[in-house]
Amino acid sequence: MFREIYNKIELELDIIPKSPLLIKSGGISPNPSLPDMQFVRTKIGGIEQMYIPGSSSKGIFRSYIEKILRTKLNEKGACDIFNNRCLRNLEDEIKKGNVLSYEIYKNSCLACRIFGNTYLKSRILISDAYPRGDIKTEVRYGVAISRLTHAVASGPFNIESAVSGEFNLKINLENFELWQLGTIALAIKGLNSEMIKIGYGKNRGFGAVLADIKKIKFIFTSAITKNQIWGVGKFVNADVRENYDLIDNDQIEITETPINEADEIIYKIVEYSHQSWEWISNKVIEKFKQKMEEV
Ligand SMILES: [Zn+2]
Repeated sequence: MFREIYNKIELELDIIPKSPLLIKSGGISPNPSLPDMQFVRTKIGGIEQMYIPGSSSKGIFRSYIEKILRTKLNEKGACDIFNNRCLRNLEDEIKKGNVLSYEIYKNSCLACRIFGNTYLKSRILISDAYPRGDIKTEVRYGVAISRLTHAVASGPFNIESAVSGEFNLKINLENFELWQLGTIALAIKGLNSEMIKIGYGKNRGFGAVLADIKKIKFIFTSAITKNQIWGVGKFVNADVRENYDLIDNDQIEITETPINEADEIIYKIVEYSHQSWEWISNKVIEKFKQKMEEV
């Protein structure tokens, strides 16, 4: 959307299994010494390690946030990217290069304004989540029961799952409005309240996790006022705000004390302790609720 970065948040959290967790690798292993259903692995420094791919995490966040937006605002909140995508009426003109970037943004649904679509870059980046230390695994046995005959349809097969340990996940959000950060806060709450379960076997007691905030770091252009957090609309002038349909006075006063503050002349870094998350999270969720009233 903009070439310049006005604001950015770097969030770091640990995903900790509360029940068995299995993010499946594709297919069944040909190696008989390994479980039939394995946790996805990648090589880090030459060593095979379990991890949660960023694309999986992004999918989990997107689908939960879309559900909330659709419940509140139908298609305006989240379009159906397969059948009724938000930019369908503009596509021919976009392909001819006749549509300005702010028109693309403005005509995108709220979910696409966060996660992007074919014509709009995502403003969120979710990393692969790698283990912080050891991950303890267990193997369980499962069978698939035929719904028709109630007999065993396939199996028994063995299922590998992570039962303890930490997967470190990084979420970056750039040029964001506060309501957009609010949706991320809602998704983190969703994980912690087990409204969101991840991976395989959600109906078999798998996939409940704890999302434990580790780092909250904001980067703002130097225009920002001390002890405030600004959404992107607050940094730009009225014309730009209007063009992109950004919120005016998108700000919160913050009473939490930063653990680190650095003035780098053209930008400022403000870091809060993990204990401040609850407070920040509630404030930006409030901004999300206001946005829902205004659309
Ligand atoms: Zn859309």
